[in-house]
Amino acid sequence: MARIAVGGFQHETNSFVEHRADFAYFASHRDRPPLVRGPQVIEWLSGGSYALSGFLGAIGSGHEILPLVWASGGAGGIVTEDAFERIVGEMQGALSAAMPVDAVYLDLHGAMVSAGFEDAEGEMLRRIRAMVGTEVPIVISLDYHANVSPEMVAFTDGLVGFRTYPHVDRPETGANAASVLRELLVRGRPAGRALRNLQFLIPAEAQCTLVEPSRGIVARSKVLDGDIVSLSYLAGFPAADTYWCGPSVAVHAWTQAAADRAADALAARIAAAEPDFVADLLSPDEGVRQAIDLARGASRPVVIADTQDNPGAGSSSDTTGLLEALVSAGAEGAVVGFLCDPDAAAAAHAAGQGATITLDVGGRHGPQGVMPFRADWKVDRLGAGGFRTTGSVAGNMDADLGPMALLSVGGVSVVVTSKRMQAYDPAPFHHLGVDPALQRILVLKSTCHFRADFEPIAEKVLMVTAPGGYLSDPALYPFRKLRPGVRLHPLGPVSGPAGRKAAAAAD
Ligand SMILES: [Zn+2]
Repeated sequence: MARIAVGGFQHETNSFVEHRADFAYFASHRDRPPLVRGPQVIEWLSGGSYALSGFLGAIGSGHEILPLVWASGGAGGIVTEDAFERIVGEMQGALSAAMPVDAVYLDLHGAMVSAGFEDAEGEMLRRIRAMVGTEVPIVISLDYHANVSPEMVAFTDGLVGFRTYPHVDRPETGANAASVLRELLVRGRPAGRALRNLQFLIPAEAQCTLVEPSRGIVARSKVLDGDIVSLSYLAGFPAADTYWCGPSVAVHAWTQAAADRAADALAARIAAAEPDFVADLLSPDEGVRQAIDLARGASRPVVIADTQDNPGAGSSSDTTGLLEALVSAGAEGAVVGFLCDPDAAAAAHAAGQGATITLDVGGRHGPQGVMPFRADWKVDRLGAGGFRTTGSVAGNMDADLGPMALLSVGGVSVVVTSKRMQAYDPAPFHHLGVDPALQRILVLKSTCHFRADFEPIAEKVLMVTAPGGYLSDPALYPFRKLRPGVRLHPLGPVSGPAGRKAAAAAD
């Protein structure tokens, strides 16, 4: 029987949005559990849809599980120094109390940036490694959007990434991490480690694993195969301004030669596919025009992805570009989900169901040029915001989005929430009596996760770039820390001094 410490601390950091992820944010219950400690970790995560849930289900009953702390912040602005130190401090404290341990498993994201540490996971793992010494295996699971640093590979013994985007394999990833950890308990720490960081960024819109080239690349990821302990492709999160931002291949193997060989082979395949990472994107007016045309005579909803206001990439989830385009085009049977505006939700609750109120909705957090949308809104439906998720990305979890309201103006309705949630799950619609399958046009604030549950019911999916906190073209971000020579989108201009030279030459 082994003593296995488990925990997690996740955040996908968009360095370019203004708000900060503080301790209270991590501690609050939203579309994910609040920060949980000790036995609460098992209570909240067992049977759920996170990697740790899958790990707990797969590790087997022959081991003693020592839960430390688990917190997930989703995505947003830079993590405050206070939040990072308190949560990592709690993790260290709980680990210290649990020592000695035979192994450690951490359920991480891989794209967290804190005010103090650009490579927040690298720093966290450095501290955990320093505590457990050189003999104890550390296995981590990472989100597909991880920006992997050399430290994250050096301090660990197995690194297992999601193989899907939309992320429908989180528990399976945790189960794979459990298999790796069990093997390491028998054979000890592996000798080989390799990391290959690709020299171009991939916009999230072009990372979807339902289609090529990503589908064929993730199919090469594996665990416990011959000399390989774990081999993972991570697509990267391009809105995190870090030195190691971008796609990578991370390998742990029983020999260094095997690690290098496997990493080189997969990295070469990804490099060769660079021209194939493309996505078709439309302006809001063009997207709405096409959606209205397509919806005529269609029996299923036309889905518009409001990709740049995806809270899952750190956006505010309150921009109004598509709402404005729908109303001014006179769209009928259109529903926008989910727009976070606690003030509008409170005003709707104060007015009551059936009331009509003049109200500013959304547009309170930029970016520049985005304004609240003022209209005479009808309050169609109110909800307390507590429900259980039902979708395939993060289903079977208790969610609390605070007071919610369904507001409508003409033929356009908006699902208003008090806490941000990406439109990856149908439950918030049903909470307000909206059946998404019966709408003519569905606007979803999401980049790719919506595809898991909404593409199967859609007549067609249109990707639209209304202004938002996440930019679908990483070349538009003012990177300061990214290593030089990285192409800022596939086949695009390069970062750093070389990039500035190229721009100057083009003037
Ligand atoms: Zn992700």
